[in-house]
Amino acid sequence: MKKFDLKAKRPLIIAGPCSAETEEQTIETCVQIANTGMVDVLRAGIWKPRTKPGSFEGVGLKGLAWMNKVREITGLPIGTEVATAAHARAALEFGVDVLWIGARTTGNPFSVQEIADAIKGSDVTVLVKNPMNPDIDLWGGAVARLQNVGINKIGLIHRGFSVYGTSRYRNNPLWHLAIEMRSRFPEMPMICDPSHIAGNREYLHEIAQKSADLFYDGLIVESHICPDKAWSDAAQQVVPEELKKLLSSIIWRQSTTDNPEYQKALDKLRTEIDQIDDELFQLLSKRMQVAENIGRVKRENNVAILQGGRWNSIVEKVVSQSKKLGLSEEFLKVVLEAIHIESINRQNKVMNE
Ligand code: PEP
Ligand code: MN
Repeated sequence: MKKFDLKAKRPLIIAGPCSAETEEQTIETCVQIANTGMVDVLRAGIWKPRTKPGSFEGVGLKGLAWMNKVREITGLPIGTEVATAAHARAALEFGVDVLWIGARTTGNPFSVQEIADAIKGSDVTVLVKNPMNPDIDLWGGAVARLQNVGINKIGLIHRGFSVYGTSRYRNNPLWHLAIEMRSRFPEMPMICDPSHIAGNREYLHEIAQKSADLFYDGLIVESHICPDKAWSDAAQQVVPEELKKLLSSIIWRQSTTDNPEYQKALDKLRTEIDQIDDELFQLLSKRMQVAENIGRVKRENNVAILQGGRWNSIVEKVVSQSKKLGLSEEFLKVVLEAIHIESINRQNKVMNE
């Protein structure tokens, strides 16, 4: 079988069960997935880092033998998660085409370094999931550890970040962090993991479509022949038939188009945006000069800068117009907060001149 090429196809689709549970379940699931004709790599977790002891922690080595059978039957490359140097060595011995480093492992530099040292000299493809916490330096650090030992077939998986309490999704996507990571490593494919972001099959489509809209390079999706009976991540898995429907419904965007009408329309809108930005920042500059004048008046009268009541009423007034402005409350609050910080800094400066 020829070496797997991470960049050969866009979108790259990886799918398979969260965990290999039994030989039958692994092979049956993967064969059905392969038969959709829409998947490039088959995945299954063999070693599962679980939150609490006593949960199903994966079948271990025998799962690799099942995945090898899957590769023989389907002709598709296979991938699994590695969390220790021993896992990585075992996976290489079995000729696994794609390794991925899970979110819990990416956050641990010692583990990543151990894995990097164990696969040094191989030309295996490695996908690095974002860490649980929203720290892209840590994510980038894991990539650098692999690069430092000469691994150069690296891709990124965006699987969202831990949240405290309840939220719509199991993990918070924080799309802007993945976008920032992408600009730090522009040559690396960015793959979205809607299954772990969603935590629930109901939300897979909206997340996958958003990643396609953001020009991601592919998806990794969990699928199981009998999702509700899955030994791990039951709520987020879909049967292979559902996976096929999901994948067929995603519209993948192109990076650009030659259509001259598109270029004309875009140029016009961009000119408008540039003009508005100009006006916006002129106004902000004026606003800050007024803030400085307020600082001077307060200084002359020996009055403190912070007057909580006044600021709260500004926020209330602006936020109450949220609907009329067509801007979300969340956005207005972030903008006001930035203005407030700068305004305080400017008043502070003149206060102590
Ligand atoms: C997985 O892909 O099955 C997995 C455990 O993912 P994560 O590391 O993103 O939790
Ligand atoms: Mn999973």
